[in-house]
Amino acid sequence: MEGREDLERETLGRRNRRDTLIVTVVFLALVGTAFLGVKLINPGYSREPYQRTMFVLEDYVTITAYGKDQARVEGAVDEAFRELQRLDNVFDRYDPESELSRLNDAAAREAVPVSEDLWKVIATGVEIYRESEGAFDITVGPLVDLWDVLGRGARGEPPPGDAEVAAALKLVGSDKLELDEAAHTVRFLQPGVVIDVGGLAKGYALDRAAEILQSRGVRSGYISMISTDLTLGEKPGSAGGPLWRIGILDPRGEDYLATLLLPGETYVSTSGDYQRFFEYQGVRYHHILDPRTGYPARGAVSVTVVGGDDGARSDAFSTAVFVMGYPQGLEWVKSRGLECLLVDASGEVHYTEGMRALLEGIKETTTP
Ligand code: ADP
Ligand code: MG
Repeated sequence: MEGREDLERETLGRRNRRDTLIVTVVFLALVGTAFLGVKLINPGYSREPYQRTMFVLEDYVTITAYGKDQARVEGAVDEAFRELQRLDNVFDRYDPESELSRLNDAAAREAVPVSEDLWKVIATGVEIYRESEGAFDITVGPLVDLWDVLGRGARGEPPPGDAEVAAALKLVGSDKLELDEAAHTVRFLQPGVVIDVGGLAKGYALDRAAEILQSRGVRSGYISMISTDLTLGEKPGSAGGPLWRIGILDPRGEDYLATLLLPGETYVSTSGDYQRFFEYQGVRYHHILDPRTGYPARGAVSVTVVGGDDGARSDAFSTAVFVMGYPQGLEWVKSRGLECLLVDASGEVHYTEGMRALLEGIKETTTP
């Protein structure tokens, strides 16, 4: 009981201490992402689940949980949120006290030992950098800071110039990281490197929250982090089971592109250019950057990946596929055993065969 209010107060307190820019970013994020990504379609529950939403890890997180013992379920959900809050303190690059900020400050001077959580996320990030041949790269930090899409949008500024982009790009590349597997240390081989785990930290946190829920009596449920989600166990028959119904939003429209029908224990991650962006002279500049060019990736406007067995990888895969675009991204993720739906820059909707089988009421195009 005590935990819930304290946690919310703590979150507010922490956000209040941030500078105006972050407040602006958060505000725009609220406006921009509250109803984006994928969204659980109200299935007309006949049995009320326990449900809570909190702003943590830079997004709204909603946990919906079903279980026999209501008090136990509530306790589990509180505990899961406490874990997410703890992880936010590890990964939050905009908090100078976070473990990641301290690593970014020190790792160009010496090899820095990192916690198990940060190690896993960085090591997974580097693995996917290799697998994606550089499309996914956690060292995009200098580019993310240069583009500062929400800040530029709020200030009405133009995109950065080519020379600035080229200068930031010189600091990007996971080959500039030295990871010591035995000692769990990270060192930057060049000054100016900045790690940003925004592309996979939520997915990692999803797994930690799910472990807590499942070890504390939650039989089935749903964790939504707006752009990364996990269904847990089978949906209770009394709540409209056996399948979970999740809407994939139309990146250019008000409604859904399709509804996903999923069994329990499935990861769903979405990356879109409609999540965080600004427009300047009619051109949209968004938050998913191509680490090979330094500019927002243009090969897709929205990507949803389904499946896999790891939250961090699922989250990173949607970002990687977005950067690779159509058709390479779709082929790449299919070869790793995941299903995918991709809307390309001309508004055409593409999907894997396995994805087709999970979709209901699919629109084949949307307005570019
Ligand atoms: P969301 O932030 O909505 O979950 P994504 O999962 O696609 O969306 O992650 C986008 C975030 O990942 C960006 O805000 C940035 O922090 C980081 N990022 C941007 N481009 C890349 C990239 N090419 N590789 C890895 N991370 C990226
Ligand atoms: Mg992602």
